[in-house]
Parts: sequence; structure tokens; C-alpha cells
Amino acid sequence: MTNREKYKFDYFTIDHYGELVKMARDLGFIFILHKDDYVADRKDIIWRHDVEFSPAQALKMAKIEHDLGVKTTYFFQTHSENYNIYEKYFSDILQEIRALGHHIGLHFDSHYWDVSDEESLERCIAVDTDYFNKVFDINIDTFSFHNTTSFVLSCEGYRYGGLINTYARLFKEKYQYCADSTGYWRYEVLDEVLCDPNTRHLQVLIHDSMWSDTVMSPRKRVMTAIQKEAERVKKFYDDDLVAFGAKNIDDDVVL
Ligand SMILES: [Zn+2]
Repeated sequence: MTNREKYKFDYFTIDHYGELVKMARDLGFIFILHKDDYVADRKDIIWRHDVEFSPAQALKMAKIEHDLGVKTTYFFQTHSENYNIYEKYFSDILQEIRALGHHIGLHFDSHYWDVSDEESLERCIAVDTDYFNKVFDINIDTFSFHNTTSFVLSCEGYRYGGLINTYARLFKEKYQYCADSTGYWRYEVLDEVLCDPNTRHLQVLIHDSMWSDTVMSPRKRVMTAIQKEAERVKKFYDDDLVAFGAKNIDDDVVL
């Protein structure tokens, strides 16, 4: 069996992503937020995005969801090695996703702060949240952990630093969980979970660049996203020099 078959490369295209969102909607799942009350006899879904590699790809997904009439939550990092959410280009994308009616949350990086106890967890989430709220003139209410550790997974309280914890005991106990982490379904496959009549409450976790326009391996999906971003930054430099009227000197050529 090839990796393409074993890890279902064909599954993770943007077109298929739209079909899955539509499937969830058409099967009668109500799209809710983490802050909404748990209602035992409602068939619902908390659809969550941890934005890891490409906010632009996240925006593409946000538009698909908007066209299908569903609202999801986008959790952004403030210490990402892949994007600076406080850079204008990315801030504008966040605001565009928000303007489409989606919910915004914090994708909290415990590694940046080297958090190892609940007291510092409270403090560090509050620090990240405070600046985030001020910059984006928003009042976020939920966070998710980036790259979970055994310590953060042991933090099952409902709130930390004033924000609802997507890994709280409530969500672990009441909602099934389906995640595309590192580009394949590690436990259950999303459409099978959606179609199972026993699925009544579900939290879905999506990562932007684990989905691509064409069929490729998970690693290539991520590398393509990183390359695209690098090209954007290179173009930014070249355009900037044109705007300044400055010489852009390369080997034996001046642009
Ligand atoms: Zn993450």
C-alpha cells in the first residue's frame, strides 16, 4: 500500500473540505461555539481551526464556510514561527475572517512561556489576551493549546486567564473529537464520524495547510504553504524598492 492510499492524500483537498462542511450542515448538525451551553438533545458541532501555517489558507476556508452559511472559530497564534499576526497583511486577514461572521480565539503557545504550573498558565494567557484584544479591538473568550504537552492536557479547568479552555473536561466528556493533526486522521475519519447516527456532539479540529488545492503528501502541503509565504515576502521587498525608487542590485544587474 502506498502512503497516498494509507494516509488518504486524496481526502485533503480544498474542494473536499467544502464538501465535508456541507455534509455536516446537511446532516443537521447545528454549528455552535465553545461558549454555548451544552444541550444534551441537540445535534451539534464545534468546528475549530488552529491557524498554524497560512492565515491566507484559513481565509479561503472561512469563505467556503461563509458561503455554506456556517460559523466556525479561528484560533490565532501570537508567537508563531510561521506568521506574525500583528503584521498588517496578517492582521487584515484576521479582520476579514472576523467580518465574515466567524469567531476568533487565541491559539496559546505554552512552549513560548515555558509554562509548567496552572498559576503561570493563568498569567501568561491573560498577557497574550490583553494585547490581542487591544490590537484587534475585540474581546476574545476562548483559547486552544498549541502543540499540547502532558502538562497542558492535564489542565482540564473550564477557564484559564479568563478564557474558555477548548481542552476542558466538559469538552472531553461531552463531545467526540476528530482532528486532522499532521495531515491525516489519526483515530477516526471525519465523514464516517459525521454519518454515524450515534454522533450527537462533536468537536472538529482543522489545520489550514493540511488541506491544499491539489493532491499531495502532508509534508508537501505544508512546504508549499511555507514556500508561498516566502515568495510573498520576497515580492514585498522587490516592490518596496520600486516604491522607494531605490536601486535593487543583484549579480550583474540592477533592477
Ligand atoms: Zn497549534
